[in-house]
Amino acid sequence: MFENVIGQDAAVSAIVHDLKGGTLPPTLLIDGPRYSGKGTIALEIARVLTCRNGRGDWSCDCASCRLHRELAYPEFVAFGPRDFAADIAISAETVRRDPRRARRFLFVRSVRRLAQRFDPRFRVGRGDAAVDRLLEKLLESTDSLLDERLSEPAGVVQPAVDGVVSEALSLVRHLPNDHYPVDRVRAITSWSRVAGAQGSKVVVCEEAHTMQSSAQNALLKVLEEPPQGVYFVLCSSRPSAIRDTVLSRVRRYSTVQRAPGVETDVLARIFSVTGFDGGLERYFRRVTIGADDGYAVLVESLRAFVRGNPFDPDRAVEAFQRAVEGVDGRALIVAAADDAARGIDISDTTALDRDVLRRRWGLLRRHIDRVTARNINAAATFRSLLFSQRGEA
Ligand SMILES: [Zn+2]
Repeated sequence: MFENVIGQDAAVSAIVHDLKGGTLPPTLLIDGPRYSGKGTIALEIARVLTCRNGRGDWSCDCASCRLHRELAYPEFVAFGPRDFAADIAISAETVRRDPRRARRFLFVRSVRRLAQRFDPRFRVGRGDAAVDRLLEKLLESTDSLLDERLSEPAGVVQPAVDGVVSEALSLVRHLPNDHYPVDRVRAITSWSRVAGAQGSKVVVCEEAHTMQSSAQNALLKVLEEPPQGVYFVLCSSRPSAIRDTVLSRVRRYSTVQRAPGVETDVLARIFSVTGFDGGLERYFRRVTIGADDGYAVLVESLRAFVRGNPFDPDRAVEAFQRAVEGVDGRALIVAAADDAARGIDISDTTALDRDVLRRRWGLLRRHIDRVTARNINAAATFRSLLFSQRGEA
């Protein structure tokens, strides 16, 4: 078990110890930095808990493990924000490099993780027919990708993967800003109280700290007295933002920031990536954002803006719109500003107007803060930032 979790020996051995001893609590929290494999650990816990033969090795062929590997186990649900566009883009890249069925599982899982967020059982408010159609199509396409009869040459698999990626990115646009509205948390807790047809139920809440207080309170009720056979696995990269009352109800298992060499190993073994030693986070960013040629224009424009050099704001806005297709606008603007900053030495004022540099740098930081802290539309903010220089001398 946990063969697919790399470089998290302490957390994994504590979990395995508790699983084998039958002492794993029904409510747990996996905390640790981003890109440290928390979500993978949560999925593995769910699979091992429901394995029919009790051993839970990755190649187990029991009915339950087979469904888990396809992320189709009916008594398993996962909620919360993730960088779905990145997950999907990277696993699609992996399949394009290596179209064997084992790799296609990785891709299908990343797409079904997204699809799970639209599970009609936990819908809040009225359904959206367009979303339902997308969802149905996506599930059909992922089924056919896992078909054992699908021949493996890249020429056959690649167009199918491209089609699924574009359908999935359409679905990403329908993700809500708040992944944990209180009504949904109540729907989850009600569902957890109905006995499952297949034994244990597992609920995973990713980035659980993003729950508002009212949602945390609703969850707390079920954490205080979890129904028999139901497990709640919370994951968080910012556990300090989780209420103490919730924290006091969960046993914590912590992942660590993996060393660069270990991350290189993860890239090679999980994603078939070789020759990239910049770490997981940079790789994710490069594949999802940096792959677009609009992104280079975006970074160049921001750099010119800060330095007070001439640039074409219309072209920059157009580049932003191209680069933002299917990715999170906030992540995009933060990444572009970081990359733009690399080309600017704020203390080197030779041949630059020091005041312009300071003022524009401050302006850029303030706009980014608005986007990240106050959830303001990234495209509109970007446009207003770039056009703000028109009034300047
Ligand atoms: Zn099994």
